[in-house]
Amino acid sequence: MIIGVPKEIKTHENRVALLPGGVAKLKENGHEIIIEQGAGVGSGFPDAQYEKAGATVVDDVEQLWGRSDMIMKVKEPLEVEYPRMRDGQIIFTYFHFAASESLTKAVIESNCTAIAYETVEQSDGSLPLLIPMSEVAGRMATQEGAKYLEKPQGGRGILLGGIPGVKPANVMVLGGGIVGVNAAKIAAGMGANVTIMDINIARLRQLDDLMAHNVDTMFSSRVNIEQMLPHVDMIVGAVLKPGAKAPHLISRDMLASMQKGTVLVDVAIDQGGCFETSTATTHNDPVYEVDGIVHYCVANMPGAVPYTSTLGLTNVTLPYAVDIANKGWRKALQDDPELKQGLNITGGKIVYKPVAEAFELAY
Ligand code: NAD
Repeated sequence: MIIGVPKEIKTHENRVALLPGGVAKLKENGHEIIIEQGAGVGSGFPDAQYEKAGATVVDDVEQLWGRSDMIMKVKEPLEVEYPRMRDGQIIFTYFHFAASESLTKAVIESNCTAIAYETVEQSDGSLPLLIPMSEVAGRMATQEGAKYLEKPQGGRGILLGGIPGVKPANVMVLGGGIVGVNAAKIAAGMGANVTIMDINIARLRQLDDLMAHNVDTMFSSRVNIEQMLPHVDMIVGAVLKPGAKAPHLISRDMLASMQKGTVLVDVAIDQGGCFETSTATTHNDPVYEVDGIVHYCVANMPGAVPYTSTLGLTNVTLPYAVDIANKGWRKALQDDPELKQGLNITGGKIVYKPVAEAFELAY
């Protein structure tokens, strides 16, 4: 199979879908790899490393799309890429179809086979190709929150870990899933007092056993959140109600009870955000203030650390890519029920129900 890897063209997207090590692995399995010039540079992997691994580096992206049996990407195809998708081609990437009717229609019209990273699902309901990005976002949430707590950045001017003789900061983490646990781990490691809140008692029980001594757990309810607000310095929003908009756990009027310069990091912003006052921001202009409370609401946090994010992503996507390339997509999906969940659109038809429902299209 010929596998093509174009350079990502979304603003500030420096990740790449395949590393030189992945090229070598696919070559070993008898496949040919074409990579667009400079595709790996943003993540720290120059063209020479891809060539050394056996890829052909090209500067003609149209030719790359035209020749490839399978395209591997990171982000969804953008409008300029729609005409490049073609009949019978496999595209393996994050699509997030429900967020774009025009993309959904373009993929239907192209007759290509769209296997979406975000819907590959394990039997326990976990999403293996999304988890590494939640791990990145969770760890980054604390790093960013700590930075914006600094006075020159608009924060309260409190050091997360305190010092001997001075108490550390209080960090509240809403949601004890992948993002929340990773945010809590880093905050606890820096010496903060951390409270994780969740509505899933079984999860809280598990975290109580696993987390460090400076991490408490608490049931997430309005009363409990309100009680904590005057005493917290930083809040990480990390809740997820699968398939739904994030619930607003902190309303605007609740900001008044908080200390000025408290930092809210709303990681759940890609699902609408869990603070009423959250609006998506970008890495160029990540924070704003409402009623003296600093809000950080970047919707694509992993984009800021492309080296880590690319490695994390390709660690989990490569085995699936090798399988698809070796067996062809039909057999690969037939043999692997997890990967089968990734099939969203093929032969001009939507085959993943939630995407059809999002736009009332045929399924
Ligand atoms: P997850 O499913 O692993 O965890 C979500 C947790 O929220 C669960 O434990 C659930 O019980 C809990 N929860 C649900 N309702 C709650 C409530 N009312 N109060 C407290 N807890 C509640 O999800 P995740 O992978 O940790 O992702 C969390 C969010 O972060 C998602 O919206 C995800 O899309 C987003 N995310 C954003 C970025 C970014 O760059 N901004 C990157 C990765 C993930």
